[in-house]
Amino acid sequence: MNVADSDRLARALESLDIHPASNPADAGLIILNTCVVRQSAEDRALGRLNSLKPLKRSNPDLIIGLMGCLIGIKGNSALEKRFPWVDIFAGPSDPEPFLRFLSKRTDQQDSESWRQLVDDVLDAEFGITTEAQHTVSENLPIVLGCSHACTYCVIPNRRGREQSRDAKKIISEAQVMADHGAKELVLLGQIVDRYGLDIPGGMLLPQLLRVISQLNGVQRLRFLTSHPNWMTDDLIDAVAELPKVMPHIEVPVQAGDDQVLAAMHRGYTNQDYRELVARIRERIPGVSIGTDIIVGFPGESEEAFDQTYQLLKDLRLDVAHLARYSPRPNTYSAKLLPDDVPAEEKMRRFRLLEGLQEDVVGEINQQFLGQTQEVLFEGKSKNKWRGRTPTNRLVFVKSEENLLGQLRDVNISWTGPWSLQGDLL
Ligand code: SAH
Repeated sequence: MNVADSDRLARALESLDIHPASNPADAGLIILNTCVVRQSAEDRALGRLNSLKPLKRSNPDLIIGLMGCLIGIKGNSALEKRFPWVDIFAGPSDPEPFLRFLSKRTDQQDSESWRQLVDDVLDAEFGITTEAQHTVSENLPIVLGCSHACTYCVIPNRRGREQSRDAKKIISEAQVMADHGAKELVLLGQIVDRYGLDIPGGMLLPQLLRVISQLNGVQRLRFLTSHPNWMTDDLIDAVAELPKVMPHIEVPVQAGDDQVLAAMHRGYTNQDYRELVARIRERIPGVSIGTDIIVGFPGESEEAFDQTYQLLKDLRLDVAHLARYSPRPNTYSAKLLPDDVPAEEKMRRFRLLEGLQEDVVGEINQQFLGQTQEVLFEGKSKNKWRGRTPTNRLVFVKSEENLLGQLRDVNISWTGPWSLQGDLL
């Protein structure tokens, strides 16, 4: 979601003829987008921000902007006091303060046409103008905010309540993206499978997938992140039936112990999740499933953690994003539940799951050895082209051809837990 917000703001700026500098010291405008989902992310954001202060001191004309969840949709006056040398503050998914600031700043000649340009970019909502070039795989937010209130999570507080975006707008943005270089669209929401439920009579995610997958130029569609309780049969059917919707589902379990799940306010049990995975696998052959896990939630005993370990061991999921519990400001768990799993123990549990997952995914990936996979190439890393299989596995290929944006058959010649390598057929 943050990448999508940054990309959109960058495109809006490009439409104003403001282009990327090669490094911060050469820039006239620096905007830092921030994530605060865990304390480590917040610390990193503040560290980066402080590292910009000397640049501002040596170049007082430098404009510095701070955006994202560090600020939140309601604004944060404490931050404004703490960082008086920051010129612009903006919440998540909100490029407007930057554009307004830039619009006011130009007071020389041509200011009328400049203001008009800024207004046009604002009207285009979020920098989706017909001018901008899009990357091969584009993120397209469809649900903003979140209203679920998992007890550990700061996102609802910073991104506001759940709001599905208008289907017509989404579809027309998708078409603009596809017309300007995007081959794959990734529909985003904190609980993306709730898309449309807050709009009476609105289009739901399965229908939206059907419509977007028919747009000219859209070759692949993905969506994330799902919540287990909202993964309807309709949605699973849409993934199974629509050839352009990739067989990859990100559906976080967060923990394997029922008491911990209840304390997290997730709304399902270990058994529910196992049944969901079985249902998805039965309906979508070859599907890959990703999950998120938090270790060391308050009250997570050794036995409770074993439930998570056993769940991952049994289900053999394709991806697990692991995190150590981090108390976040103004969340229910931070206020009311003691952070009672020691840091070293959180690390030990994290490492155990990491090791397990490395073995599992290493084994799963071996089945691709010698197989042909269709790969969409997104870019180059060092001397190799980088792309993804339908199940979202990273593939590296050496080739003299320009593969950017191409869908090509690749014979897999090497597999590891985190990537594959192959040769063009
Ligand atoms: N809305 C999605 C993703 C939320 S953020 C969902 O609910 O699944 C991405 C991940 O960060 C979460 O899935 C969770 O695993 C992790 N996370 C969120 N809050 C956290 C916290 N306080 N401490 C540690 N990890 C956290």
